[in-house]
Order: sequence, then structure tokens, then C-alpha cells
Amino acid sequence: MKVITILGARPQFIKAAAVSKAFSQEDNIDEILLHTGQHFDANMSDIFFAELGIPKPAYNLGIGGGSQGVMTGQQLIEIEKTLLMEKPDWVLVYGDTNSTLSGALAAVKLHIPVAHVEAGLRSFNRSMPEEINRVITDHISTLLFAPTDTAIQNLAYEGISGETCLNVGDVMYDAALLYGEQAKNQSSVLKKLELKAGSYVLATVHRAENTDDLSRLSVILKSFGAISQHQQVVWPIHPRTRKVIDKNNLHFLLGEGVRLIDPVSYLDMVMLECSASLIATDSGGVQKEAFFYSVPCVTLRDETEWEELIKLGWNRLAPPLDVEEVTTALMMAIGTQGKDFNPYGDGKAAEKIIREIVRKTV
Ligand code: UDP
Repeated sequence: MKVITILGARPQFIKAAAVSKAFSQEDNIDEILLHTGQHFDANMSDIFFAELGIPKPAYNLGIGGGSQGVMTGQQLIEIEKTLLMEKPDWVLVYGDTNSTLSGALAAVKLHIPVAHVEAGLRSFNRSMPEEINRVITDHISTLLFAPTDTAIQNLAYEGISGETCLNVGDVMYDAALLYGEQAKNQSSVLKKLELKAGSYVLATVHRAENTDDLSRLSVILKSFGAISQHQQVVWPIHPRTRKVIDKNNLHFLLGEGVRLIDPVSYLDMVMLECSASLIATDSGGVQKEAFFYSVPCVTLRDETEWEELIKLGWNRLAPPLDVEEVTTALMMAIGTQGKDFNPYGDGKAAEKIIREIVRKTV
């Protein structure tokens, strides 16, 4: 059987690290990776392939940048060409990026079945490009691999149910189990940055709703500045966010205690997450990783797709609208713990995904 996996953005490389490893153990499955090129900086792409042992993509389309429509459209054209040439039995896509949508759309129009990993997530905010990508991908996929019961319910509300939808657990939990210990043994990031465990807040910010809105971004920067008077803030900054801060000369809003660093490798990120006193983020994956490593999290958004974490008390929302409110939310979260319950499966999501794809093929 031939499966083409389409990926293009950082979180997809991490998900693929778990699933591609499981594929490589199957004698009868040939997995071919197609990288759209959505993320292209070495520290946003190559580093993950090298560190996590993900096979080299057979195709790299080099299509990153441009508007939403340009990027999605160009990817669609080029993915279709590759699918026509390779004629796979399945196309596998992850998550909610433009690469997810263009991959699923190209496949379904050629009558190639699509497996969507991380199906059923909803923010119920259709101004997010990710929400559009998820909704459409779910509605055109053949197999929908949901990470949680909530995701299964979201699909049911939209009329997608039955044996095509499966809660397999979260592949990012698989990755956390696979690489968590390795990070502790291999990463020297704490030493390199001269950080003591429990003495810093780890931050990441990259969602368009925060980077494209200078008022929201300013609230975030000022809040980080304020909290950094108590604990330093370590911020591996996404290239998109750095660009906006540089272009608008917003550095002055950050205090001395905020350390902007380049994006780090996955193992270094895991190490930084495990040892932080608090994680402040608008990332989907990082919210869950905070939970996997029992670190309190504040999500700098109006809503989250990972509602379970709010209910369990590991995460709280702090919409970046008011500096004082966000700073208070950050301060209050340090030292808190949530309930001891894991809604993200048993760490065998990758295995279940592959088993189901095989079952549906014969
Ligand atoms: N990540 C990383 N290095 C960094 C920042 C994040 O390896 O400098 C990892 C992080 O551990 C998580 C994933 O990237 O596994 C999350 O990706 P991102 O925040 O870009 O996307 P999202 O999850 O919001 O879709």
C-alpha cells in the first residue's frame, strides 16, 4: 500500500515524527512524504527532520509565504501533479494548516481517500484561517482520526459520525512519550541559556489574530514586560512574530527580563517546557505539552480548541485585551495544578491510525 503524507508546518513535523516512525515498522506500507514548503527556515523545518529521524521528504514543493489564497492555490496545483504521478492508495494530512487543506482537496478531487489526523477540533471562530482549514478538511475526509471525545462530538454536531470517525487519542501525546525522556537526557538548553528549572516563564506567540493585530500584540508584549519583573520570560520567537515586532519597532514594550531567542528544536523545546514555572502561549500544541509535563498554562486567546484543559484546571484563557488582566492571569497561574486525568489517550494513537487505514484498504 502506498500512503502520501502531506506536511508543511512545524507542528506537523512533530506529529509525523510519531506516525512516520510507526509507518516505517510496517513492511507492506510505503509512506512517501510531501513537504509543501510552508515552513522553510532551517529552525522551523530541517532541524525537526534531523533531530527526530523523520525520513527525508521525497518531494519539497517550496511553496511558503504569500496570501492565504496564493499559498493554498499554488499548493493545490502542485500537490495534484504529484498525486497524479504517484497514484497513492491514501493521502494523510495533519491538523489545520493551508497544507492540510490543499492536500485533502487535491486528493479528494482525484478520488483518493483522505485520512485526517487531529480531526474534529473547533474554536468556533471562523475568522481563524485554521478553523476554515479544519472544517473543510473534516467534511471531505474519508477517515477522521479525532484526538478526544470532544472532537468526536464536534464532528457529530456537523453531521459527521459513524465508523469513519475514531477517537484514537492525540499523536502529540505519542510524541511526548517517545521524546520526553530523550529531551531530558540529550538537551543542554538550560545550561546554554543559564536557566534554573522553575525560575522562568516560557512564552510562544504566533497566531495571526495576535500578530496581525497590533493592539493585541502590544498587550502581550507589555504583559510579558510586566511579568518579567518577577520571573524572566524566555520566548523562542516565531519568525512571523519577530517580523511584526521588528517592522513596527515594538521592542521597547518588552522589559529587560524578556529574552527573545530563535525558535528551538523539539527536544530543546520539551526541555524548556518541562522546566518552566508557567507557559504563556497561543499555540495549540504547546497548550497540550504544558499539560503533558504538568506545567500550568495561560492561553493568550479568546477561545481554545483544547477545552478539556480549561475544565481540568491546567489551562486558563487570557484574551490579550487588557495588560493588567493578562498580567494578573499570568501571575495567578504560577504554582497552580489541575486535575489528574488524561483525556488524550494511551500514547498509541499512531498505531491505531495505521491499523485503521490498513483495515479500510483490504
Ligand atoms: N516548538 C518547537 N520549537 C519552538 C516552538 C515550538 O519545537 O521554538 C514545537 C512545540 O513543542 C510543539 C509545536 O512546535 O510541539 C507547536 O507548533 P506551533 O506552536 O508552531 O503550532 P500549533 O501547535 O499552534 O499549530
